[in-house]
Amino acid sequence: MEFWPFRRKGGAALVCLLACLMFFLPGMSPRAEAEVIDPVWQYQLTPEEPWQDFLYPKLPDLPPDTHMIWLRTTVRPSADANNTMLFMTSMQSVRIWIGDRVIYHYGSFGLQDTGSGMRWHIVKLPPISSPTELRIQIYGDTTEAMLGLNTLMMGTGVEQMQKLFLFDAPIIVALPAALLIILIMVIYYRYHPYHWKRLYVAVIGFMVVFACWLVAASNMKNIFYDDAMLWWHKLSTLAYLLPVSANVVLYEMLKKEPRSYPGVVLSINILLMVVTVGGYLGGMWTLNWGMTFFYPILGITEACMAWWLLQAVRRGNILCRAILPATIGFTILGLIDGITGHFHVFSWRCFVTPLGIFPFLYFVMELLKVQLVRERSLESQAARLQYKVALATERAERDALTGCHNRASVGQLFEDSLRTAERRGGVLSAIMLDIDHFKKVNDTYGHDTGDRVLMDFAAAVRRIIDKEKAVIRWGGEEFIVLCPGLGQYETMVLANLIRRFVARAPLGGRKITCSLGVSTWHGKEKDTMEALFKRADRALYVAKESGRNRVKGESAENPASL
Ligand code: GH3
Ligand code: MG
Ligand code: MG
Repeated sequence: MEFWPFRRKGGAALVCLLACLMFFLPGMSPRAEAEVIDPVWQYQLTPEEPWQDFLYPKLPDLPPDTHMIWLRTTVRPSADANNTMLFMTSMQSVRIWIGDRVIYHYGSFGLQDTGSGMRWHIVKLPPISSPTELRIQIYGDTTEAMLGLNTLMMGTGVEQMQKLFLFDAPIIVALPAALLIILIMVIYYRYHPYHWKRLYVAVIGFMVVFACWLVAASNMKNIFYDDAMLWWHKLSTLAYLLPVSANVVLYEMLKKEPRSYPGVVLSINILLMVVTVGGYLGGMWTLNWGMTFFYPILGITEACMAWWLLQAVRRGNILCRAILPATIGFTILGLIDGITGHFHVFSWRCFVTPLGIFPFLYFVMELLKVQLVRERSLESQAARLQYKVALATERAERDALTGCHNRASVGQLFEDSLRTAERRGGVLSAIMLDIDHFKKVNDTYGHDTGDRVLMDFAAAVRRIIDKEKAVIRWGGEEFIVLCPGLGQYETMVLANLIRRFVARAPLGGRKITCSLGVSTWHGKEKDTMEALFKRADRALYVAKESGRNRVKGESAENPASL
């Protein structure tokens, strides 16, 4: 078994994902600030303290219960166009001075719950003629929340808007894809209810959480509703819900696979979510510090999921193969965002998790393809079954040798003929036919020849009469023809036509003749099917008695003979 399970499409999906990454990553790093901002940074925890150096962007270790910090550096005069500052705060309030002038203020200082959330800020510096001190005062409800002002970038106003847009670009491309998947899944859930209903619901759930998380993570959201704290709550809660909803999808796919424990992974995710969200509701700062556990747990649990998926792929599970790129993609992208955004390992941060939607889109397409193939094979199975049922019914109702209706179906045929007769003036007749001296044919030429004669005889009768009239093999070489819409006389004319045809043409290679008895329906009140056939049988007997190869009518009052 080959190790690399994605032959063409899965590999292509991963390559596309990497290409997207290459496209977005360079845009995330700061570029121009070094030209304007001095690389030497200092901090103090109270205005009375002396300033101490630190290596921006990594903030120094802060003593517990620190809520305030001042940072300072020097800005050099630059072209006016290059003096727009872009930075992000998460759970911090900020105040900025150039020299002694406060040029920017955001959030509240000294109050619990700053209401600052996660937010980008664009600040245009006033013109300066000589190197001037840039001072930033940061307030955070907790010491942990003090960290993170690591995205300070300088540039032109247009550049900063471009950067903001670039940060949102993965969201802008991912959101329509997520909405498309929701739409497709809802339609499939509604109109194709055969398989995987739970999987469809799981995918819809994941995509709804993902779409909400995208909106909460975007910068554009503030244009519609500028309440950073509210968005921060939503983003944090959804961030914990995201792996839970994604792992529900994987749980649906792996739950029946041997030696896979997706339920355990799901429980760990749910536990982390309950502890962090519950702790926050209980007044603790768990939403934030939970992230420190979130990323390592994400890495370990999703690696387990990916391994179980790979085992399932090796056992031939095509859906697991389809979702493997998305699992690996989402995990790697999530970890990149965590390393840069939460752990501040680099001087830049990025946001690429949304791009994981593209391998996931590939999974959804594969899911639909498998579903369509299954439906098509179900349809052809149903058609084959229908054909078999029709064949079995035909065999049950038809005589195997002659292809005529057999005696078992005579009741239904009589009912049908009676209904047709009612539309044709209420008249109905029956012809009973019997081959003359058939025993002799058998005795002289053998049973096989007798069979051939029988087959040709039945075929000849069916060729002469129209399809509306049923030909029934009554037994041996005796047949009944039901003639709805024909009275006694017309039926005798038809019977005579049959007699002459049979007498003229050699059937089964032998010259034979037949005798026919005709009876007519006397109405529901006076007559029954059995009585009708008995009268035809008596007329046939009369035909035999009077020398064979002739047609006789049913009664003494109407002793027609042809
Ligand atoms: P009659 O003119 O009085 O009708 O004389 P007959 O010899 O035709 O007499 P009868 O109708 O009683 O004979 C029926 C014969 O038909 C008896 C049986 O051997 C033969 N027979 C019945 N079913 C089959 C069949 O399926 N194949 C063959 N080859 N012969 C059959
Ligand atoms: Mg006979
Ligand atoms: Mg007979």
